[in-house]
Amino acid sequence: MSQTPLLPNIVAGQAQSGQGAGTPLFDPVLGTELVRVSRDGLDVASAFRFAREQGGAALRALSYRERAGLLAAVVQVLQAKRDDYYAIATANSGTVTRDSAVDIDGGIFTLGQYAKWGEKLGDARALLDGGRIRLGKDEGFQAQHILTPTRGLALFINAFNFPSWGLWEKAAPALLSGVPVVVKPGTPTAWLTQRMVQDVVEAGVLPAGALSVICGSSHGLLDALEPFDVLSFTGSADTAALIRGHDAVAKRSVRVNIEADSLNSALLDPAATADSEAFKLFVNEVAREMTVKSGQKCTAIRRAFVPRALYQAAADAIGAKLAKTTVGNPRNEAVRMGALVSRAQFDSVREGLAQLLTEAQALYDGRSQALVDADPAVAACAQPVLLGTSDPVAARVLHDVEVFGPVATLMPYDSETQAYGLIRRGQGSLVASVYSADPAFTARAALELADSHGRVHAISPEVAQSQTGHGNVMPHSLHGGPGRAGGGEELGGLRALGFYHRRSAVQAHTGALDALAASATPLAF
Ligand code: NAP
Repeated sequence: MSQTPLLPNIVAGQAQSGQGAGTPLFDPVLGTELVRVSRDGLDVASAFRFAREQGGAALRALSYRERAGLLAAVVQVLQAKRDDYYAIATANSGTVTRDSAVDIDGGIFTLGQYAKWGEKLGDARALLDGGRIRLGKDEGFQAQHILTPTRGLALFINAFNFPSWGLWEKAAPALLSGVPVVVKPGTPTAWLTQRMVQDVVEAGVLPAGALSVICGSSHGLLDALEPFDVLSFTGSADTAALIRGHDAVAKRSVRVNIEADSLNSALLDPAATADSEAFKLFVNEVAREMTVKSGQKCTAIRRAFVPRALYQAAADAIGAKLAKTTVGNPRNEAVRMGALVSRAQFDSVREGLAQLLTEAQALYDGRSQALVDADPAVAACAQPVLLGTSDPVAARVLHDVEVFGPVATLMPYDSETQAYGLIRRGQGSLVASVYSADPAFTARAALELADSHGRVHAISPEVAQSQTGHGNVMPHSLHGGPGRAGGGEELGGLRALGFYHRRSAVQAHTGALDALAASATPLAF
């Protein structure tokens, strides 16, 4: 049998194949091998040097407006090849079209937003952070904080679940800031990231070295980082802990942003009834969040809280929605939910579910439904399972184990205060959603939950149509969360540029600060 193609890495502005047979990437539905990746033999240190010295210098020579133009050009390249990306996503991620769109179009949309926002920063080369502060008796001697692009590179070590969005949501603010990007995608789904970078580099719309992709092992990447580089990691808490302890971070002070796992919550208003609009919105969103991308979203609802009186009604209503979810081969039009990314993830979901079942029971179990057009012995297709416990206070595992698949746990609460306490037992999450027609309750819940969540998403009947979804990460809003979620911050409009800039205080005479201001612009959100 002939071997599948080895995807080249794209470094120093050109394709460079790794050595050896490489690691195979599979179709998670059919089980067939698709392509292989390798970075063996790649000179990482010189690839990084090229990115810093060539890519970084060329990007920094441009203004924000010019770099925003580069992002717009990248959007054009990607738009023209969307069909190819959908084909890769179907084959390598096993996603139905709607789920591929979240990743592919979500990534392109985010780039487009930063192109628009960057345009508004105009011809500046640096950003002003706040106003001038008088330092002494002499009015003329003042401090001005400024933000300048870091002279290092941005290394992204990404998770497997968003090979497109995971790249572009980080690359857009980095490139707009003038910082070159090297991405190491999660291996099981690296093909889409690799293809997109290859297309953009071949199109010649970015300076050489501005964008690179290294596929396969992450071994040695952190060793090659230098003090002015930044590292953005998305993945599991265990790998995050290794990264935090690496010399690059611990000794060379490489700035690091971590997006890790999260047990996100949904909270139904204590005043809701089974026929209220808030109840229906809650049910819809929980069922949707469980099934979009087969639950492989870091923001997906994992714990759903209802007033105790509505526990059974909510279980029945969510179960009825899940029962309509046909699972199987994404190429079959009858299928609503495709596969997990790999058989290894399938096993991991099964093991995680067994752990949760030590403290919960299945309220709806889709595992009895046959797969459509897929062989259960081969396909990494997991059916949705809604779990429940009547005693969430006594539970431990349910507040601690993130099952990265179509699984959530319904939990009843007895008082508003108890609900907030239970939600906080997630130890810091990316997002909590609140379902209520009462603005006062929503505001109270937002204040209670904001300190332990990067985002509070409130759904009321007025915004039923316009709300953007519990798990959808909009570039306008912060993405990240404290504690267990990694403590990171991404997006949030132009706030994201902060990670790729260095803040300094310039203490000088008014005349010098006036001259400085001529090439800087206020960072307005
Ligand atoms: P993972 O095993 O931690 O892998 C994440 C990335 O780290 C991959 O690129 C992986 O490469 C790389 N990696 C593995 N070991 C490493 C090491 N020792 N040093 C440096 N890099 C290393 O996580 P995963 O299982 O792929 O991702 C799923 C997790 O990501 C879930 O827990 C999910 O919650 C989380 N996630 C969080 C967010 C967020 O924004 N907060 C978004 C998506 C996913 P290989 O693939 O080659 O092993």
